[in-house]
Amino acid sequence: MSVRVRFAPSPTGYLHVGGLRTALYNYLFAKHHGGKCILRIEDTDRTRLVENATEMLIDSLSWAGINFDEGPVQGGDCGPYIQSQRFDLYREYCNKLIDSGAAYYAFDNAEEIDAMRDRLQKAGLNPKYDRTTMKNHYTLGEEETKKLLAENVPHVVRLKVPMEEDIRFTDIIRGDVSINGREVDDQVLLKSDGFPTYHLANVIDDYSMKITHVIRGEEWLTSTPKHVLLYDAFGWERPQFAHLPLLLNKDKSKLSKRQGDVAVEDYRAKGYFKDTIVNFVALLGWNPTADREIYTLDELISSFSLEKVNKGGAVFDIQKLEWMNAQYLKALDPDYLAQEFMPMLEEAGINGISNEYAAKCITLFKERLHFLSELIPNARFLFENPTEFEEAYLEKHWKENTMDIVMPLVNILKNEEDYSHQNLHDKTKEYVESAGLKLKDVIHPLRLMITGRSVGAGMFETMEIVGREKCIQRYDYFIEKYGK
Ligand code: GLU
Repeated sequence: MSVRVRFAPSPTGYLHVGGLRTALYNYLFAKHHGGKCILRIEDTDRTRLVENATEMLIDSLSWAGINFDEGPVQGGDCGPYIQSQRFDLYREYCNKLIDSGAAYYAFDNAEEIDAMRDRLQKAGLNPKYDRTTMKNHYTLGEEETKKLLAENVPHVVRLKVPMEEDIRFTDIIRGDVSINGREVDDQVLLKSDGFPTYHLANVIDDYSMKITHVIRGEEWLTSTPKHVLLYDAFGWERPQFAHLPLLLNKDKSKLSKRQGDVAVEDYRAKGYFKDTIVNFVALLGWNPTADREIYTLDELISSFSLEKVNKGGAVFDIQKLEWMNAQYLKALDPDYLAQEFMPMLEEAGINGISNEYAAKCITLFKERLHFLSELIPNARFLFENPTEFEEAYLEKHWKENTMDIVMPLVNILKNEEDYSHQNLHDKTKEYVESAGLKLKDVIHPLRLMITGRSVGAGMFETMEIVGREKCIQRYDYFIEKYGK
């Protein structure tokens, strides 16, 4: 049987990093087994819909490089892949459940349900729907139920959960799971507005889309007993289940917005590379080996195994994420990095920089950065002649006699055609030796002129990139301003 898995987000906003992890594990699993990964939009809860959320989800997923085989964009034989376009199917199947006695009509209104919950809570009992006393098919009888339906009295359809039986299933990550029917609510399957709930639509879709493995977050584990009852009631073979561990903050609380960003989009905006995010998220709950953190997507695919996913929560360590981005910055192709960098230059109001030039600047600085976006604040001088010079640095390294020491060197360098760092270094060395000076006596004044700042990359490497023409403009500007 060929593997078919799905990622089934609800369009309620941005893509959460936990959502990306679920999507990625589905994708890795499908690719590992040569199967199919499907995208399905679960928009049955009309009250939680957010405009454009589906587009945003699709955009973030495709940015991360997770490509689906079937879905709202690609189509496929089991579509449509948006639940709101499948409502007839859910109603049809729901009627079958009613006919077979696996589900039943209930006519209680919201106040009656609230009062029931109150009563049960006060008695110290589980506030689940009390089938034996409320207004439903069982307490009203066949005749009365039919009458109310004919009168269009608002009603829902509920799942008839066995009262005292154990509901059992096996989870690939957690092993055997068992819960007593006593603990499980008679879940609403069809709401009074005729729309299905998540549970009904999810199971019908997983069946009709021939899903073999349901891989989703741990927060859905409590829904699974209801789902297996539905599979059994329909007489359908259950898929295999795998519930992924929760994502935690460093203090082990559940990962939440309050302690940092949770949207993939936020990390993208901060300048994390997609390779970093995918690599990092893949390791939230699993690591193919004990001694490495950096993996290509192909390596992740070839070693992925649900059996090796941890049960315990996975800590989202932002320092590790930053470290990983720095690793990718060092390793990624400079031309690719230059392309990513171009919009940042534009945003900083710097124009006329070629990809090739940007790639050289990035290569020069990549050991010193965690993010590409740090390059401009740290090294604007690579793109613009400096007009401001660090006060303290100036005071320390531009003294009474500096001009006399540096001017002869500036004149030598002005006459050099070859601005390779090696030649600049050799010529400077020759000069300091002949003048009985040390390299550091001239390097700081040169750095001041060329960059205006006390920190930067190698001086001669910087001068090589800036180039002869710009270096000459900078000597002249500086001497004009601070000479004498
Ligand atoms: N629509 C659910 C969600 O938003 C899907 C859960 C599942 O995968 O069954 O996460």
